[in-house]
Amino acid sequence: MIEKAKNIIQNYNGKPLRIMEVCGTHTHEIFRLGIRSLLPRQVDLISGPGCPVCVTPVNYIDKAIYLAQKGCCICTFGDLVRVPGSESSLAQARAQGGDIKTVYSPEDAMLYATQHPEKKVVFLAVGFETTVPAVCIAVDSAKKNGIDNFSVLTAHKTMPAAYEALKGSADVFIYPGHVNAITGNAVCKELTKQGVSGVVAGFTAEELLMAFAVILTLYEKDTPFFKNCYTSVVKDEGNIAAQKLINKIMTPCDSTWRGLGVIKGSGLMLKSEYSNYDAMIKYDVPDIKGSPNPACKCADILMGKCKPPQCPLFGKVCTPLKPVGACMVSGEGACSAYYQYGENL
Ligand code: SF4
Repeated sequence: MIEKAKNIIQNYNGKPLRIMEVCGTHTHEIFRLGIRSLLPRQVDLISGPGCPVCVTPVNYIDKAIYLAQKGCCICTFGDLVRVPGSESSLAQARAQGGDIKTVYSPEDAMLYATQHPEKKVVFLAVGFETTVPAVCIAVDSAKKNGIDNFSVLTAHKTMPAAYEALKGSADVFIYPGHVNAITGNAVCKELTKQGVSGVVAGFTAEELLMAFAVILTLYEKDTPFFKNCYTSVVKDEGNIAAQKLINKIMTPCDSTWRGLGVIKGSGLMLKSEYSNYDAMIKYDVPDIKGSPNPACKCADILMGKCKPPQCPLFGKVCTPLKPVGACMVSGEGACSAYYQYGENL
């Protein structure tokens, strides 16, 4: 199967196409597995906005720092700690005495709150549909158990509205398998009716090679297509239990994406009955505007308008050790993938 897929990819002789890997994990795995070197010259890969840390706007970091400065204990996944805010980062806030704790799940943060009732614990809830259910479980559990020193600062994003904003930026999308595992495929099928082609892909070498072979075979037929190439995990209807849980705790809201701006209905926030667990309300966080470094091209990279080596700071001023933008920090970021795997223009 792998050999057949490789054969299709290497012998593709059709028209040029731009494929966007929407998900940052796909970007890294395609690099790491050496799949880029198999692709013919006329197949161009561009990275999309599917890295949750990368699309989180700079003012979110500013708000987290504000909360730390107000005495909250910030619990977060590790990547966010080094993402630059407008003037500082959570790492710098920690160096100045801020209580910043790295956790592996929202539940860890909630348990930490139960063990430390004297602390005001705030979990930084970023991520797509994939990570939302775990946040919902933690909030629901905190409410049921009367843990009122736990709250979440939400910046959750949902993909459907983002696809609208991305229309025209690529010829074919590789849809994020983990997201489709929750949401199902209805949105992707609807996009096909509007002329947008794409496949859902898994993350192993075999799954990715299959996905590319399917893309290159179907693209030659000149008709918009959708194909689920990750059927072992992604079902058409998605994960119904997770969808019900999300609908119970969260409600759609407009959301600001780094690079894409405000996209109507592309975010999730806690429903009003859970407002006691919403850090923005609980601690009366002001509407901080935020100002990203103007030299950083993360916004263009996330829209597929340019590639990391085209940023003048790439690899010189901006490296994983001294990141200027989120795309160089995150383990799913396009800049960190290009830096780590050494591809220049
Ligand atoms: S290389 Fe650094 S500064 Fe340039 S776009 Fe990437 S993260 Fe931003």
